[in-house]
Amino acid sequence: MKNLESLIKTYNDFPKEGIAFKDILGIIQDTEVFRELILKMSSNKVIKNSEAIISIEARGFIFGSAISLQASKPMLVARKPGKLPGELIQENYHLEYGENSLSMQKEGLKRFSSYAIVDDLLATGGTINCVANLIKKSGKEVCGVVTVVELLELNGKSKFNFPVESIISI
Ligand code: AMP
Repeated sequence: MKNLESLIKTYNDFPKEGIAFKDILGIIQDTEVFRELILKMSSNKVIKNSEAIISIEARGFIFGSAISLQASKPMLVARKPGKLPGELIQENYHLEYGENSLSMQKEGLKRFSSYAIVDDLLATGGTINCVANLIKKSGKEVCGVVTVVELLELNGKSKFNFPVESIISI
């Protein structure tokens, strides 16, 4: 996609030494590129094949909610600890730079049978794997993943037995 890559800025050694942080926030400062990106992500077969979307805190929410509206797919969220009320299902995971856990509301997960996971970036795949485990533990189907960026050298894709569709691979 024209211009998309130029809107992604790399910050070396952020948030920790050795990490080349890809800042995608420039994308939402260019509404033409953002619109084109959302149209492309929304028309992906992974989204089309799913009954609903799960977007991941926090940057996943930006793309997930726009895709949800464009593709007319309901959206659930996977959030970091202490953010969601109600009965939750929780899973721990390792990040490229740390450790965390994600939770989802059980009530929401009961409503739909198949899910597409949406996030800004695929690095090691730990975060997406965590959400995939939450879906599977709930007895539901993972249709696949849609991200804006895939970091090729970390080979996160190899962890999954479902499709991963990224708009740019760098
Ligand atoms: P991972 O679980 O390693 O695939 O990491 C993916 C999640 O962490 C995404 O939600 C990203 O927002 C964030 N992330 C991991 N590595 C980077 C990076 N190099 N640049 C920007 N975001 C990152």
